Amino acid sequence: MNIGEILRQDGKRLQDVLGLDEREAGIEVRCLLQAVLNVSRAYLMTYPERILSGDESSRYSGYIERRLKGEPIAYILREREFFGHVFRVTPATLIPRPDTELLVELALQRIDEANVRRVLDMGTGSGAISISIALARPELEVVALDASEAALDVAIENARRLGAFNVRFLKSDWFSELNDERFELIVSNPPYVEAHDAHLKDLRFEPESALVSGMDGLDDIRRISAEALSHLNPGAWLMLEHGFDQAQSVRDLLRRSGLEEVSSVRDLSGMERVSMGRLTRADPFCNNT
Ligand code: GLN
Repeated sequence: MNIGEILRQDGKRLQDVLGLDEREAGIEVRCLLQAVLNVSRAYLMTYPERILSGDESSRYSGYIERRLKGEPIAYILREREFFGHVFRVTPATLIPRPDTELLVELALQRIDEANVRRVLDMGTGSGAISISIALARPELEVVALDASEAALDVAIENARRLGAFNVRFLKSDWFSELNDERFELIVSNPPYVEAHDAHLKDLRFEPESALVSGMDGLDDIRRISAEALSHLNPGAWLMLEHGFDQAQSVRDLLRRSGLEEVSSVRDLSGMERVSMGRLTRADPFCNNT
C-alpha cells in the first residue's frame, strides 16, 4: 500500500474501532507513519504515492495493530510532548497530560513571586513536571522523587537528554527518605483516581500505582498534605493536581493540615484541577510545624 491509501484506510479503522473522530484518527496515523518512515508531515502530503518497503510495512503494521488494541500512541512511539519538551515515556510511567501543564505554569508563577530556591516534585514519573520546572528556572534546585525505580530510570534519562542538570532524583515513598529537608514549593500530580472508577478501563495500559488511590481517590493526597508541613519552610506553598470533582475535599485537607491562603485553579476545560495552600510565616513564639 502507498502512503495515501494507508492514511485513508487506517484513519477509518481507528475511527471505527476506537471511536476517535476523523481529525484525531488522521493525526495518529500520520504520526505512526512519520515515525516509521522518519519523515516530516510535509513529506507524507507531498508523496502520497510512495509505497512502503517490506520492512517499513511490517513495522507500521505492528504499530497500527497495537494502537487498534487500544495501546496509547505515546507508549507505541515511546515519547510525548509536554510543556514544549519531548519526554521519553514507558509503561513504567504515566503519560504526561496537557492538564498538568497548568500545575507547571502555576508553580513557575509562585517561583517568580516568592523567594523560591528549592522545589520538590513528588511522584515525578517520567519527570515531566520536575524537568519542565528545572529547565524553565535553571537557578533553582529541584528534587524529584518517586517510589518506582523503573519510573526514576525514565526520569533520569529524560533529565539527561533534555539537559536539566539542576534536578536531583530520589527513590522515596512520599516523604520517607527526605529526612528533614525543607522546600519553598512542593508540587505533585499524585495518583487520584477512585479504585472503582469506570474510566480506569481506558487507562489500562498505564501503571495502576500512578493512578489509583483508595476508594475515594484521596489516600495519597491525604498522606501528602498531612506530612507536608514538616517539609515546608515558612511562607512555602504546597500545590496539588487532583480530579475534576475533588477540589472541595482537597481544599479541606489542605486547611486541616494547617495551610492557609487555600485556593483552587481551573484548567482549560473549566474544571478545578489544581489546589494549593501556604504555610504562613513562622510564628516567633512557638514551633510552627
Ligand atoms: N489525569 C489522569 C486521568 O484521569 C489521572 C492522573 C493521576 O491520577 N494523577 O486520566
